[in-house]
Amino acid sequence: MSDPKQVRPNPFEIAQRQLDDAAAIMKLDPAIHEFLRWPLRELHVTLPVKMDDGTTKIFHGFRIQYNDARGPTKGGIRFHIAETVDTVRALAAWMTWKCAVMDIPLGGAKGGIICNPKAMSPAELEKLSRAYIRQVGRMLGLEKDVPAPDVYTTPQIMAWMMDEYSMMQGYNEFGMITGKPLALGGSQGRGDATARGGVYCLREAQNVLGINLKGGTQAIQGYGNAGTYAHKLGGEILGLKTVAVSDSKGGIYNPDGLDYEKVMEHKKKTGSVVGFPGAKPVSNKEILELDVTVLVPAALDGEITAENAPRIKAKLIAELANGPTTPEADAILHKNGCYIIPDFLCNAGGVTVSYFEMVQNAYDYYWDEERVQRRLDKKMTIAFHSVHETARQYKINNRMGAYIVAVSRVAEAVRLRGWA
Ligand code: GLU
Repeated sequence: MSDPKQVRPNPFEIAQRQLDDAAAIMKLDPAIHEFLRWPLRELHVTLPVKMDDGTTKIFHGFRIQYNDARGPTKGGIRFHIAETVDTVRALAAWMTWKCAVMDIPLGGAKGGIICNPKAMSPAELEKLSRAYIRQVGRMLGLEKDVPAPDVYTTPQIMAWMMDEYSMMQGYNEFGMITGKPLALGGSQGRGDATARGGVYCLREAQNVLGINLKGGTQAIQGYGNAGTYAHKLGGEILGLKTVAVSDSKGGIYNPDGLDYEKVMEHKKKTGSVVGFPGAKPVSNKEILELDVTVLVPAALDGEITAENAPRIKAKLIAELANGPTTPEADAILHKNGCYIIPDFLCNAGGVTVSYFEMVQNAYDYYWDEERVQRRLDKKMTIAFHSVHETARQYKINNRMGAYIVAVSRVAEAVRLRGWA
C-alpha cells in the first residue's frame, strides 16, 4: 500500500519485541519467554510450475508452525509478490496469540508463496496451489496443521488444496483446510467472519467507552474480504457511515458516504474502487489520516508507523489487517487517546469460524448461519472484555492486554506439558 521502495519494518522483529514487552509486564518465566520468541519448525519449498505459455517458472514458498502447545497449528496461506520468510514468521506468531486470546484449542502457523496472483491465470494458480500442497502436505492434517485463506487466496484455492491433499491420502479429508466453498465442507458464515468479529468488537467498545457509533464515520484501507465486509456490516450492525475506502490501486472519499452495493459493483466492473462516480480520489496514505470516527486498516502490515501516527485523527482503530501498527506508532496513538482494537483480537472472527468449520467437518454435521453467528458473537464478546479488563488492570494499552491474556494461556500449556 505504501511506497514499495520505502524500507518496511521487519514484522518478525516487531512480533518478538511485542512479546518481549508483554513478558516484562507479566514477569514471564525467562525460559518460556525465550521459547516463545521462535517458531517451532518451518519448511521452505521450491515449486516448479508449467505456465500457460509453455515455460516452467520456479516459485518459492514457506509453511511455518510457530507453536502447537494448545493444539494443532492453524493459519492462512498468502500469495504475495513481496512475501518474506520473516513476514510469515511474524504472522505465524500472531496466529498463536490469536487462537489463544480467543481460547480456541489451536496453535499458530502461517504459509506463503512469493508470486503475483494478479498476473496468473486460474489454471496457473491451480497448478501452483497443488504444487505447494504436494510439498507442504506432509506437515498438514486435521490433527497437525490446518491452513485457510489469507491475502489473495480464496475458497477456490482452498478447494484445490483440499483436493490435492485428499488425493495424496487416498480419502477425503475436508477438515485439513478451512475457508472452503460450502459444497466441499465449508462453514456458513465463514465469508464475512473476519469483519463480523471486528464489528462485534466495535459494538462492545462503544459499551465500555460509553459512546454511540451510530451515524459515525469510517475509513477502510484495503478492500479485500475483510475490508468489503467491514463496509457492509459496519453499516448494517452499527450504523457507521463509510466515507472512504481504498485498494492497492488507490482510494475514494465522499463525506456523504459510499454505498456498499454500488462500490462493489464498480470494483467488480473495473477491478478497483478508483474512479467511483461522485467520490474524490484519496491515496492509501491519506486515507489513514482522514478525520473519521473509526479507522479500519484492512490491508497489509506496517502501514501505521511513527511517521504518520501523529496525524491520525480517528477515535478508534479496528485492526482487521495483521500487524498494521508498529510499536512506535502504538505508543503515539495510545498517548493521543486513540482506542485500538488490536489485530489478533479484532480480526480473530475468521479463525474462530475456521475452528467451527473444523468441528463441523469432524462431526460431519453442519450448522446454520444463525448458530455460527451466535457462537462467534459469544466468543468475540468474551475475548474483547478479557482484553479490555486486563489492559485496564495493568494500566497498559489493549495490545499488551491481548498479549498478556494470550501468552499466559500458551505459557500455561507449555508448562503443563513439561516443556519448560
Ligand atoms: N488468515 C486468517 C487470519 O489471519 C484466518 C486464519 C484461519 O482461518 O485459519 O486470521
